[in-house]
Formats: sequence, structure tokens, C-alpha cells
Amino acid sequence: MADLLGSLSRTHTCGALRPSDVGARAVLLGWVHRVRDLGGLLFLDVRDRHGITQVMVPSDSPVMAEAKKLRSEYVVAVIGPVRRRDADTVNPKLETGEVEVVAHEIRLLNEARTPPFSIADDSTVSEDVRLRYRYLDLRRPRLQANLGLRHRVTMAVRKYFDAHGFWEIETPILGKSTPEGARDYLVPSRVHPGAFFALPQSPQLFKQILMVAGTDRYFQIVKCFRDEDLRADRQPEFTQVDVEISFAHVDLVFGLIEPLIVEVFKEIGVHVPTPFRRMPYAEAMARYGSDKPDLRFGLEIADVSHVWADAAFNAFRRIVADGGVVRALVVPGGGRFSRSELDALVEQARQLGAVGIMWARTVDGAVNTNVKAAGEDTLQASMAAAGCGAQDLILLAGGKADEASRLLGAFRLSLAKKENLIPADRYEFAWVVDFPMFDWDGGDKRWVAMHHPFTAPHDEDRELLDGDPSTARAKAYDLVLNGSEIAGGSIRIHDPAMQRRVFQLLNISDEDARLRFGFFVDALQYGTPPHGGIALGLDRLVAILAGEGSIREVIAFPKTAAAVDLMTGAPSSVDPRQLEELKLRLTPPPPAAPGPGPGV
Ligand code: ASP
Repeated sequence: MADLLGSLSRTHTCGALRPSDVGARAVLLGWVHRVRDLGGLLFLDVRDRHGITQVMVPSDSPVMAEAKKLRSEYVVAVIGPVRRRDADTVNPKLETGEVEVVAHEIRLLNEARTPPFSIADDSTVSEDVRLRYRYLDLRRPRLQANLGLRHRVTMAVRKYFDAHGFWEIETPILGKSTPEGARDYLVPSRVHPGAFFALPQSPQLFKQILMVAGTDRYFQIVKCFRDEDLRADRQPEFTQVDVEISFAHVDLVFGLIEPLIVEVFKEIGVHVPTPFRRMPYAEAMARYGSDKPDLRFGLEIADVSHVWADAAFNAFRRIVADGGVVRALVVPGGGRFSRSELDALVEQARQLGAVGIMWARTVDGAVNTNVKAAGEDTLQASMAAAGCGAQDLILLAGGKADEASRLLGAFRLSLAKKENLIPADRYEFAWVVDFPMFDWDGGDKRWVAMHHPFTAPHDEDRELLDGDPSTARAKAYDLVLNGSEIAGGSIRIHDPAMQRRVFQLLNISDEDARLRFGFFVDALQYGTPPHGGIALGLDRLVAILAGEGSIREVIAFPKTAAAVDLMTGAPSSVDPRQLEELKLRLTPPPPAAPGPGPGV
């Protein structure tokens, strides 16, 4: 039987005691982090969210018998005076390391089964086990620190927006499908059999309607849901800091978001200089092969098309003649790569969907390459044009501009990692701007919105919608940090005629538009102010701040990459009666629920 807490209250957290508290009576409430039974003396480390305090049980103590019962993760109350530790036992790693509590009373408030992994050691445990016993995983100091950081970041966000005249307004979770482009999570309606709610992919239309409603400045820290296929480090539900601003233009949005980022980074003691650089999408693609360039290192892609325009090598000459490009990536010092390392690069290119990749370097004063037919002179001219020195390696890709750059962009990242060119502790921000309005979907043979269908075209590109839509730029922007997109948004269309035009271009018929977004198109007609906004990915942002590679490390109860909650076993099959009430019949019979297996 456990002892009772009774009316005992803590006097100090386990992270609070300092030499100035010596002599005070302390009541600590927490978990047994470690027990060190020295035969005579016994030491206990007691832990709570705030830290760890050493408790000393003297050999002749009347509570020794009680202390000897304690095991890791038992829940205890310890009462006794604070004393200064002997100089040689001070622990500089603990904030409370100069003092200890002498146990006069110990109450065992609860026992604990032996945990499947140690909370005290930061030993490596498989992620499945960690997720299954998430409550134990969360007790570990690293995840406690991450949750604490996440809390401070959300508080900083709320304080910032409040100070700038924003209202936090909740929008529905049970809603109508929002067109963010991913698959919706659907919720069947019992009251209206056959009808479904969709969980929001984002509150996009609601926040725009809030601008029509005159709320002027809105923000919300909000869960969004996208039923996407497995991709590493995506979550089916994730958190956005969602923002919308009336009478917004690009400079106004950037001017409000940059100081927010400055505030948030103060939480980890990092000063972020503003304004952030701005880079047109076309430049990001050409120089870095990505619309979210990692700017912590160079390795820029060079265009060497001119070198190949009259080359003897047919393949690249033809590509250039047909309006394509030849682009190059120089790997400093890459001339030393072994033949198997070079073969691996070619294989990597195939994995990325290319036919291969051309490489060249200088060996004993002559060009060494995997494509001899490319011709020594042209290769040498390419190396000179791209700045490839005698010790370096050049990679060459030919094709459509974005395709060639994307391929080299992927190599840029993997080779920077391989060559250790990415400095840690650097934060390189950039706004990527001037995205194209549309992307051509070759499969479906239609335009799709690059951001979403409510994004306004550039003022000077409006005419292009009737000419060549592929060249029209959008007032869309992404905020990129160290190669991750941490925010994205746009200035919206506020003119119903323009909205109709964009729907038409996207092949959304009037009828379709009425069915899907009729409420929104209606609202647009009642005096919509010019407006725009942005959404920041909170999980990714906190993961970067915490120095974590995966967003799962900063989410209290994340799902696996296979969209399963290993702790609760969701998703799971449901009682046939529930299906009956919803007038749903499963066909074919449900596969086994992907819940946690039988024991870990
Ligand atoms: N709703 C958009 C998204 O979730 C962001 C925005 O345009 O504000 O990506």
C-alpha cells in the first residue's frame, strides 16, 4: 500500500534548491531517478520536470528501511532540511549540485513497474518502443526540454501576435474539404448518412472569410490534417501557426513575420539579423536546384549550356538546341573520389529518376570521365566555365532547366553532407518569392495551382493569364531556413472576377466551384478587403530550434511514419454497431488493424 500525499505540498521543485536555501525545510515530490546504496549511506536522486535533487539518507536514519524499498521511477515525497554538500561531492552538472536534502521523512506515493528502458540513462532505444511507452519517453530530460521549448515558442508566438493587434480565432475541425492539394481525412456524419465532414488541411477559406468579416488580423495555432502517403518526417496531423492580414501586401507580411522569427529565436539565445534575403523562385532553382535552398554552404550550380551549343556530343548539343540546359556542380576536392564512389553517384542519379550523371575530373593532367564521347575539349571548357580546379570533380546534367537543376540540387545536398560542408549552428533564412502561378500536370493535362487556387497573380502578370499562364508569377512566398520550408503563404485574390478566371484556368467549372467553394465565392462578393497571409509549420520550426532531426521529437504524441499511434493503437477497427449507425458498410472486409503488436 502506498503512503498518502495527504495535504503535503511541495516547497521546492527538484530543480530549485541552491546554497541560499541551506537550513530550509524542503518538501520534494517526484520520481526516483537513481538509487545509490553505499552500504551505510544511501543516496537518492529525485526528479521532476524541473530538475534533479540529491537526497541523502544517513546510515543511522530511521527512514533507512523505507529508503531501501525504493526503486527507479517510484513516486516519492521527501521531507528534510537542505544542507550544503561537502566540497568534493559538489556536482557541477546539476543546477542543484551544491546542495542536498537530508531525508527526515520519505513517503512512498506509488510504486512503478520496471520500465522497458531506463529514464535516467540517455541510452538508445528503438523508436517503436519509445512511442509505445511515450509517457516514459517523455519523462526523459531531452523530451522534457523539447516540450518546454515548444511551450515557450507557442507563448512567444501568442504574445507577439497579441501585441500586434491579432486575434486568435478558432475555426472548425469538422468542415468541408479545403483545397490544399492533399487527400482529406473524412468523418462520416451520423445525422446525415452518406454525408461527410473533412478535417481541415488548413483553415485557408475560414481565415480569408474572417477578413471579409472585418476581423482585420487573425492568427491561430491550429492542427491541420493531410492524408498523405508515407513520407519520412511527415505527420498526418501537424500544427501550423496560421495568419491572415487585411490590406496586406508582401512587404507588410514580411515585416510582421520577420520580427516574430527574431522573437522565437530569442528562446534559444540566437540573434537573427533582419531583413531576410529574398530570392526569386527561378534563381533558387537555377543556383541551388531547389525551391527551399540550404544557404549554409556554397556549392552553387552553374549553367554551362553555352559550352555545349556547338559541341560534337550530340545528346547535350540537341538538348541545348531544343531550349534545354546543361548545368554543372563542382565538388571541391572531389577529384580524389574512388571509382566506386563515382559509380555510386551514377547509381544515385538513376535512383533519382535520371538516366545517369556525367562526371569529369583531371587525372595526371588529362580529363577522366565516365562519358568519353562528351569530348575532352568540351569537358575542359565546362570545367573552366564552372570553376572546377585540378583537385575537383564536376557533375554535369542536361535536360529541361528545372529537371537538370533539381538533379544537381539533390547532389548538392548529399555531397555537402558527405564532404562535411554544412556548418552546424548556422541559421540561414531566405524568402523565396515569385513562384509561378501554375504547374503543368502532364498526367492530367491541366494546370494546377502551385500554392493554392486563392493566390493572386503579380499585378504586372495579370494579362499573362489570358496569354501564357506558364509564365505568370504569383504573389506567393515561402520562408526557408537551412533547406527547410518553415512557412508559406500568399497575397490572395480578393476580386471575384479574378477568382473565377483562376478557377477556369485550373479547370474548375463554375458548377464545381459553386459546389466546392460556393460559400467562399459568395463571401468574396460582399466587400472583400485585399488580404494575404501565411502559415508557419510549428513542428518543423521547434525541431530546428531544438536541434532535432525529426519533428516526432517535438510532438508529445506523434504517429509513426506509417501514420499509426503505437501507444493507443489508433487507427483501429470499430464496433459494427458504430458502422451501422453511420450507415457504412465495409467492403472488402477490413484488414487487420495496424495497432501495436503483441508486446515489444
Ligand atoms: N494555407 C496555406 C498552407 O497551409 C498557407 C497560406 O497560404 O496561408 O500551406
